[in-house]
Amino acid sequence: MERLETEVIIVGGGIVGCSTALHLRQRGVPVILLEQGQTGAAASGVNFGGVRRNGRALEELAIAARSLEVWRSMPHLLGSDCEYMVTGHLKLARSEADMVALARHAEAQAPFGFKVEMLSRNALLARFPYFGPKVLGAAWCESDGQANPRLVGPAFARAARAAGAIIREHSRVSTVARDGERFLVVCGDDREHHVEVRGRTLINAAGAWANQIAASFGEQAVMEAWSPQMVVTEPFPYFLKPALGVVGGDVYLRQIPRGNFIFGGGYGDATLASGRATVMPKETLGSCELAVQLIPRVAEATVIRVWSGFEGITQDHLPVFGPSLTTPGLTHAFGFSGHGFALSPGVGSIVAELATTGATDVPLGPLSIGRFAKESAETPGR
Ligand SMILES: Cc1cc2nc3c(=O)[nH]c(=O)nc-3n(C[C@H](O)[C@H](O)[C@H](O)COP(=O)(O)OP(=O)(O)OC[C@H]3O[C@@H](n4cnc5c(N)ncnc54)[C@H](O)[C@@H]3O)c2cc1C
Repeated sequence: MERLETEVIIVGGGIVGCSTALHLRQRGVPVILLEQGQTGAAASGVNFGGVRRNGRALEELAIAARSLEVWRSMPHLLGSDCEYMVTGHLKLARSEADMVALARHAEAQAPFGFKVEMLSRNALLARFPYFGPKVLGAAWCESDGQANPRLVGPAFARAARAAGAIIREHSRVSTVARDGERFLVVCGDDREHHVEVRGRTLINAAGAWANQIAASFGEQAVMEAWSPQMVVTEPFPYFLKPALGVVGGDVYLRQIPRGNFIFGGGYGDATLASGRATVMPKETLGSCELAVQLIPRVAEATVIRVWSGFEGITQDHLPVFGPSLTTPGLTHAFGFSGHGFALSPGVGSIVAELATTGATDVPLGPLSIGRFAKESAETPGR
């Protein structure tokens, strides 16, 4: 068996893992990242591409702010902007109750230092004249944006490698344990080539699979793997600059400058054991109908592809982020519950800060895995 030594071992090569690897290398820390497939190919590579703070849970906003710094620095940091564009984001209301909920949340977000403007239907149509009759108004955040998820994970992985990180793809971690002062991690590829890695610190960035790692240290989040469904159409003349979401989250839509509409909604069938997140046609038809309700012109574009991917969704739809409560040196960063594309670039920066200084000014208390201690004891196997 091959044997390797390092300072930090990262399990999982999504954006969380790859961003962590790069930020650790920037601090001069030796790091080995182990990824069972290819970097950035799981949730990080198949998501909608929304980079927003509008409507985010308040507990996530400090991470979102850190992440925004990283998004803005990507041309310099990664040598690519990953098609990140500040296009604004509209969270749309389809009922009076939605308008009230949006206004309340906008007020709660106000102390966090970014502007969210409430727009009545008339004000909305004056600026964005393409909405259907079901849209009654919106919360508008001009500083939000969108990016191409296919580019971001691999770009972080390339930059981390160039900075000296060892990234092993097709290396599935089968065993994690603490051996005295060090972690002992065993991984293998399809050809049964096994590698044993020892390191002082372990980062659990294994996405929807992360409970398997946490369980080895006597911890569990109440989390399920869901498979959000996505649709892309053929190109259509470009007119829709902002990214769109709705209260309730049953549909989200954007158009890229090449012209394709990308939208999502509904969930396929997700079982981690099968390794496949399937697309359910009924859900796709439902999201097509909802997208057309928002913007009637979407009906003129032909759907060319549908897909899905695994996402870890926790019971309270907040990530699990922070130190383990059972094992010194272990940090969890998973369960991003549909919000991790926007947050992950900053998560890596925060994990690196935690791993090297033992502290961060980002408040992580509400995201601790400890919040599930009671529930996970009562619901084994989730
Ligand atoms: C369809 C869809 C749409 C979404 N839309 C948005 C959006 O618009 N905006 C937003 O902010 N978020 C969105 N998300 C959520 C976002 O994509 C995720 O929260 C984010 O990518 C999570 O990153 P990650 O690195 O934690 O996980 P992943 O990208 O899933 O990476 C985890 C990695 O760990 C690896 N791994 C797991 N177990 C092991 C093991 N034992 N050994 C080795 N490797 C292992 C996996 O192979 C995987 O590559 C969406 C998600 C989906 C699926």
